[in-house]
Amino acid sequence: MIPQLDPAIGAKVTRMPGVNVTVTDRCAGCGTCAAGVCFVDAIHLVDGRAVIGDACRGCGRCVEVCPNEAIELAIVKGEPLSNTIARLSSLVDVS
Ligand code: SF4
Ligand code: SF4
Repeated sequence: MIPQLDPAIGAKVTRMPGVNVTVTDRCAGCGTCAAGVCFVDAIHLVDGRAVIGDACRGCGRCVEVCPNEAIELAIVKGEPLSNTIARLSSLVDVS
């Protein structure tokens, strides 16, 4: 989980391709995840259930705070790691 970020810095963070964050039926609407946890304010309660918006950066912070383990972060097989390596390779030696 990445640390809490200043909103100006958070706006520069992009979601890693292939990362999906979803709310499952285990959500009890407690509001923990929507109480200042998300650094881009992407998760809110709607009709008693958490809803994640397009601004989500896939950081996993909300996943970790949910007492019901109701939020799932999934990585599409094979895609993110190769994309990340390709992106970082132009900046640092990843060999
Ligand atoms: S913390 Fe978990 S149970 Fe509570 S509103 Fe968020 S997703 Fe639902
Ligand atoms: S994973 Fe959760 S906390 Fe992180 S950006 Fe997405 S909605 Fe916000």
